[in-house]
Amino acid sequence: MIPAPERMIKPLLDGRGFIVWIWEIRREWGIIALEREQFKGRGATMRILVTGGAGFIGSHVVDALIEEGHEVTVVDDLSTGKRRNLNPQAKFYRLDIRDASGLEEVFASERPEIVDHHAAKANVRESLRDPVLYAEVNVIGSLNLLELSRKYEVKKFIYASTGGAVYGEPEYLPADEAHPINPLDPYGASKHFVEHYLHLYGINYGLHYTILRYPNVYGPRQDPYGEAGVVAIFTGQMLRGEQAVINGSGEQERDFVYVDDIVEANLLALDKGDGEIYNLGWGFGTSVNEIFARLKEFTGYALDPVHGPPIQGEVFKIYLDATKAREELGWVPQVSLDEGLRRTVEYFREKARAGNPRKFGV
Ligand code: NAD
Repeated sequence: MIPAPERMIKPLLDGRGFIVWIWEIRREWGIIALEREQFKGRGATMRILVTGGAGFIGSHVVDALIEEGHEVTVVDDLSTGKRRNLNPQAKFYRLDIRDASGLEEVFASERPEIVDHHAAKANVRESLRDPVLYAEVNVIGSLNLLELSRKYEVKKFIYASTGGAVYGEPEYLPADEAHPINPLDPYGASKHFVEHYLHLYGINYGLHYTILRYPNVYGPRQDPYGEAGVVAIFTGQMLRGEQAVINGSGEQERDFVYVDDIVEANLLALDKGDGEIYNLGWGFGTSVNEIFARLKEFTGYALDPVHGPPIQGEVFKIYLDATKAREELGWVPQVSLDEGLRRTVEYFREKARAGNPRKFGV
């Protein structure tokens, strides 16, 4: 490196050197880094349509996009989503994604540049009871969105897929994106079907897309009365002092990721990962028994669990290798399991204190 006095005089001799010198000084003093930090999240404002934006994950994605300065429109039929999850700064259309003409009106008036597709029927057991419903909503509903994205020249389509249900019972763990696809239930099959179509829309119509295969996502706003989402269900039961039931032995394992980390992947996918599929996850499993034990500690629950029969169609162990997301998106989960569980318990406790406990599941 040139000694300091020389560095200060030499660049003054010619204009270009002077600019370089100013740049170097600013970088050394951290001014540039500071400016970058200040402008983080202030990229171009985009019009973004989030389907399922009143649901658990979708509503967190909406909040983050609005925080980043984007104009957000939500389409949701409120079948499992809640009005109270809706961000008041988002424009809301209560609409079923099976309603193609209703959706077209939304595209025509809102002209979204990005579609972030979270609306879905998302329950393994329900899909086994009603496979046709899952094809109608998850497949045809998604195709309606793809057709309109093509017609209205959407710049990017982000798709919330599932790493927990498309691989079936894994041949190796952690499962990476190259693992064979072998869903065991109509839910997993319906979610994967759309991945094929995204590929076809990419090669035939030039649609840009990113597929995110989610692990077991948990956190605030997950439905504690749902059939899926073991963290929310246990937390609700424990805070209400009800008998908690573990399906099967409880030795089944999942890759539990806190919702904020999933939101971050959606933000990264706005301008990265074109035409790619990414697993999201820690790469290791945690058993349902372990989740129960930690939540028992965090809630101060006094009872031991009762074990019920295992659930048909459910994978026994699945966790996901997210190396590709780390390398290409720069995605690394930040919220440890203990921290995420604590935050989730605190959220449900707070809701119980603030209002009608039944409404929030505690
Ligand atoms: P959720 O049920 O809370 O959210 C789904 C949202 O879609 C709800 O707001 C619901 O009202 C809406 N919706 C359902 N059918 C609709 C329809 N026909 N028209 C319009 N809106 C409709 O579930 P979630 O856990 O937030 O899941 C969001 C997405 O993430 C889903 O696509 C799901 O497949 C995917 N996913 C979730 C997980 C997880 O662990 N929660 C794991 C893998 C993938």
